[in-house]
Amino acid sequence: MHSMDDALWLQRFPELELLIPSHELQERVAALGAQIARDYANCPPLLVGVLKGSLLFMADLLRAIPLRVSYDLVAVSSYGAETASTGQVRLLKDLDSPIENRHVLVVEDIYDTGLTLSYLLELLQQREPLSLRVCTLLSKPARRQVSVPIAYCGFEIADRFVVGYGLDYAEQYRNLPFIAALNQ
Ligand code: 5GP
Repeated sequence: MHSMDDALWLQRFPELELLIPSHELQERVAALGAQIARDYANCPPLLVGVLKGSLLFMADLLRAIPLRVSYDLVAVSSYGAETASTGQVRLLKDLDSPIENRHVLVVEDIYDTGLTLSYLLELLQQREPLSLRVCTLLSKPARRQVSVPIAYCGFEIADRFVVGYGLDYAEQYRNLPFIAALNQ
């Protein structure tokens, strides 16, 4: 079952197979926001979004956390096959402000091999935040190379290449309101 809006998109993108319809995404994001709001009630966090993939998730999650939160953004290099195997991740855009004395919650689109998150967590931990946790929309356990602690996870998914809701293939599909698998 999916919403009428999702169906209209899917008619125009026959290469896509719907995995998580938009209403399920919205429900889960609302639940994650409520849980984060409870956990951080006395210590509003700084949300750190990882560009570009987490943009849509981050925008919705922020509006589901009725606390005095602020947010910042980082960008990391997306890797090709070679980079994934060497574990090379580069920081393309750093935070605007220091995070010492802040409760930091990293917001990621997908936890796949774990290379990106482990690099990012190590980098941020060196700056001595008061706390450092991760909220990821998706987790793909099948391809894990490095484990990192995940405080909040939206959905566990099978080993398929997914697009939509911020996630791209060659910079396309980021604007889909749902998550789909790409059949090539
Ligand atoms: P990791 O470093 O955990 O392997 O992967 C993190 C990054 O790889 C994600 O932020 C995302 O940019 C990319 N990625 C991993 N799996 C997928 C996928 O199924 N679809 C898309 N579009 N990107 C993915």
